[in-house]
Amino acid sequence: MQRFFAENLFDGKTVQKNQMITVEAGTIQSIETAGSQGDAIVLLGLVTPGFIDVQVNGGGGVLFNNQPTLETLLTMSRAHQQFGSTAILPTLITDNFSTMQQAADAVATAIAQGVQGIVGIHFEGPHLSQPKKGIHPSQHIREISPQELALFKRKDLGLVCVTLAPENVSVAVISELVKANVKVCLGHSNASAEQTLAALDAGAQGFTHLFNAMSPLQSRKSGMVGAALLDQSSYCGLIVDLEHVDTTSCQLAIKCKTPQHIMLVTDAMSHVGSDQTELQFAGMQINRQGNKLTIKGGRLAGSALDMASAVRNCVENLHCTMQQAITMASSTPATFLGLQHQKGYLGAGFAADWTVLNSQYHVVATYIAGEQVFG
Ligand SMILES: [Zn+2]
Repeated sequence: MQRFFAENLFDGKTVQKNQMITVEAGTIQSIETAGSQGDAIVLLGLVTPGFIDVQVNGGGGVLFNNQPTLETLLTMSRAHQQFGSTAILPTLITDNFSTMQQAADAVATAIAQGVQGIVGIHFEGPHLSQPKKGIHPSQHIREISPQELALFKRKDLGLVCVTLAPENVSVAVISELVKANVKVCLGHSNASAEQTLAALDAGAQGFTHLFNAMSPLQSRKSGMVGAALLDQSSYCGLIVDLEHVDTTSCQLAIKCKTPQHIMLVTDAMSHVGSDQTELQFAGMQINRQGNKLTIKGGRLAGSALDMASAVRNCVENLHCTMQQAITMASSTPATFLGLQHQKGYLGAGFAADWTVLNSQYHVVATYIAGEQVFG
């Protein structure tokens, strides 16, 4: 039995002072107000549920596409733990089938070995829209094949999320994926609002980096953005690095969807948690300048964002409350992934996954299953 004393604790619903957390075998047994610290490990700062990032392409100097191995997953997980993430979905950008298979095998091994922080895989593509491909390599964008369908439905990958363009994948296939427990996200798409709503009807649950690489909201064409903002039940990933989406658009999205349906995502490339400035990917050079990653010509190419900075940006620039920002970083993605009874909240029966933040929302320490993994 481990005991931790939290000076300030936001459990995901309320903020309380002087809380004793008891943990057994990685799971929280109880959280109760305590008069003294006793022999407990003292957590100084604000203890919050660990962050859950459903879109992570890389970190610690490595990109999952470039080296789809177990070693890469370990490096990525450790890199993002420094910024409070206790669960990530390693995300594979559009690539050939062999790379997809290697990535899946690496994740299957990580899941089988119980690698901390790796909870599944996100295939971002390859069944996307050419006009909205962003930096996804054109030559690999294609229609779905039986072998890809079978790969997405594998049962040894943990949680599987697939980003697809509904104009490139039929509603029948979307519904087949959903029935196989795959989380279908819509994105990199030029779909109309009608096509988008049909995909939601077929069971699609989310949108990948809302506003970026998707048909915009216009007066006579509501686009994917319009449908995403209108729909009440789906979840939207949002990149709050102040480069991808304007603050007003971020605020509008949070107002329409509520923090219970907006997920902060990093869309991080290899640069996060490393001092790397240049990255080679699919014949392109991705350069970092400050917080911005671009290819030649200035097009954004993923982000250099980490989850703690996303939380901080929400509070400082979008004027969210701490509670709203943390909700979007933890309980909302947990609910999207179907983990709402295990993660994203701190209480009896939940995983002992938390992050400790200082008053400027920088991470002081990160714990997964009661074990300190950073700080
Ligand atoms: Zn993308």
